[in-house]
Amino acid sequence: MSREEVRKWLHENDPLRLAELYSQADTVRKNYVGDEIHLRGLVEISNHCLQNCAYCGLRRDNVVVERYRMSDSEILECAYAAVSRGYGTIVLQSGEDYGLEPDRISCLVSRIKEETPLAVTLSLGERFPEELASWREAGADRYLLKFETSDDELYERIHPALPNRVYSRKGLLRVIKDLGYEVGSGIMIGLPGQSYDALINDLFLFCEMGLDMIGAGPFLPHPETPLGQDATYARLPEGEQVPGTEEMAYKVIALTRILCPDANIPGTTALASLNREEGRKLALQRGANVVMPNLTPGTYRRCYEIYPEKLCFHEDAEWEHAQLMQMLADLGRPPGKGSGGRRGGSCTCAAKEMLL
Ligand code: SF4
Repeated sequence: MSREEVRKWLHENDPLRLAELYSQADTVRKNYVGDEIHLRGLVEISNHCLQNCAYCGLRRDNVVVERYRMSDSEILECAYAAVSRGYGTIVLQSGEDYGLEPDRISCLVSRIKEETPLAVTLSLGERFPEELASWREAGADRYLLKFETSDDELYERIHPALPNRVYSRKGLLRVIKDLGYEVGSGIMIGLPGQSYDALINDLFLFCEMGLDMIGAGPFLPHPETPLGQDATYARLPEGEQVPGTEEMAYKVIALTRILCPDANIPGTTALASLNREEGRKLALQRGANVVMPNLTPGTYRRCYEIYPEKLCFHEDAEWEHAQLMQMLADLGRPPGKGSGGRRGGSCTCAAKEMLL
């Protein structure tokens, strides 16, 4: 698919034409990654963060949020819960928290690998290459780090730089890949100042990076942040600004599937938060093949408020699991067996030479 075809789809509003796009994406999904839906249990192990991203409720300047770090035994309990529910992967996620000492993470990863059949995904922010290397040696399989947008100027505007950073986020993703991790990354859709050209570049960058997992969710700023308090901040004129709508999120998921046919693509929690009833289900019918049920204990999950009204604030893991199983049954698609990894997969994007 060419850049101009992608652009046309991003501007398409005719429901019948969009149904064609979604049907094509669903066929590609079925042909390349099959019907299985991979369940990756998410544990939000700490909400401390050194960074100050202009939209995120966990940013360091937000003094309203109650901070926590889970204990090792609490995290291991979540890992056992993932096994008992048949999930193939556990995802340990946090803000950029240097209170999570590297050796502690290594020990946790080793224990999970020794005591369970789970694949371990880490999503702990921009950490030093030595730390990333030690966690890989301890057995971590994957690392998730969103590049958010391929537009460097836009990225810098909403992510104030920290001193002593040697790597850009995209540079760090290359380091992570070189360490042998399967790499997950992604973007936000509708960032203020995000143009259609920038979004098209994002889609082609997915292909170039050969990502294992690609997440794309709508931009939902937290009210206790600069972007949450100024809805007009840096927005482009109507027609140039990418809208952070549910429909745009489905278009991006479908186009990502067509461009990167064998990637793992989640129906994101942000999308499910916009449409609690149908968001995940529609994403799974329009190219997605992964869901990340939240295993974080209820006392903590309410404090992991990256954006407001996040799905699962008020639900528990048991309830969400039952809902998911019902949804899979309704869709006639089985839960994935094993870890659902893509090691050895190659990007077959026909347009991967048309890069930035
Ligand atoms: S988006 Fe991530 S790095 Fe940025 S403030 Fe939130 S938790 Fe921290």
